[in-house]
Amino acid sequence: MLIDGFQRVHDYLRISLTDNCNLRCNYCMPADKNDFTAPANLMQAHEIFQIAEIFSQLGIRKIRLTGGEPLIRKDAAEIIERLSSLPVELTLSSNGILADRFISCFKQAGIKSLNISLDSLHADKFARITHRDYFAKVFSNIQLLLKENFHVKVNMVVMKGVNDDEITEFVNLTREYPLHIRFIEFMPFTGNKWNSDQLFSHEEILNRLSSTFDYIKLKDGKHDTTRKFKVIGYEGTFALISTITEPFCSGCNRLRLTADGKMKNCLFSKGETNLLAAFRKGDDIIPLIKENIIAKKAERGGQFIEPDGIRDPASIVNRSMVAIGG
Ligand code: SAM
Ligand code: SF4
Repeated sequence: MLIDGFQRVHDYLRISLTDNCNLRCNYCMPADKNDFTAPANLMQAHEIFQIAEIFSQLGIRKIRLTGGEPLIRKDAAEIIERLSSLPVELTLSSNGILADRFISCFKQAGIKSLNISLDSLHADKFARITHRDYFAKVFSNIQLLLKENFHVKVNMVVMKGVNDDEITEFVNLTREYPLHIRFIEFMPFTGNKWNSDQLFSHEEILNRLSSTFDYIKLKDGKHDTTRKFKVIGYEGTFALISTITEPFCSGCNRLRLTADGKMKNCLFSKGETNLLAAFRKGDDIIPLIKENIIAKKAERGGQFIEPDGIRDPASIVNRSMVAIGG
């Protein structure tokens, strides 16, 4: 089992397949990013499988593929197929643009649930946030995934003055569709020009929704990062992810592997362990994995020290979100 210094058992691994993407979301990809990892320095399909197999032998029971956009990799289907032979629950985070091409691949791999990013229900605003004109494609692919009976969670990063005026509209979607909307507090990462003025907290979200909807609180799981709710009589649910104003680190069971094969024990960890370099040399990576876990800090990589969790983002040592793998 993979246990850290705070007795937290880690059984969930997020693997990034690429630090590149077919969108350019303001909050994720730095505007000047052009140093994408060269293909030879990315974990190759067989390396991803073999490293994931080692993690599964150590107790990982769930793997989420992410990025960047995982589905832009030419070998994405091969990677998904290979990983589906491991005794893990396999899932994926995607912006949804290419999802229609992968429906049968997902089904064959036993994928049942996907997280799809969508930050606006208006094509013009979607284009302003993502710098690409794909709203219609993403929305129709969300509908297709539902039609094909996938459990679809929609991730919306709420930014004050950008899209906070749409949270009611997003919850309204759950009246007709069995969608699970997740409102995520905007987080600071290298290069995303985060500013506390743009933070729209989970409390503000709930206050806003209280005046429009009658909702009930749903039961949350032990390791859930979300607090779930449901409007009475609606098909879907909504949830809050309060990483900044109310972190949920005490139940954390997550580890991350960047697309270039570096292990991170937290989204906000300063330290990284180069598993790919060791793996390519033929070294045993198990001691490195264990050292990395034992170095895990109690909360948010030990980098948010003020009580309100807010600090100058320039002082946080990290990568951009697109290069970590969300
Ligand atoms: N491309 C895929 C997608 O968009 O879902 C997977 C990678 S993306 C980095 C994973 C998740 O991270 C997305 O839901 C995205 O909204 C979220 N994310 C990225 N930057 C963020 C930020 N600054 N604050 C909060 N969430 C962020
Ligand atoms: Fe790409 Fe996802 Fe980041 Fe948007 S949030 S730039 S879709 S990786």
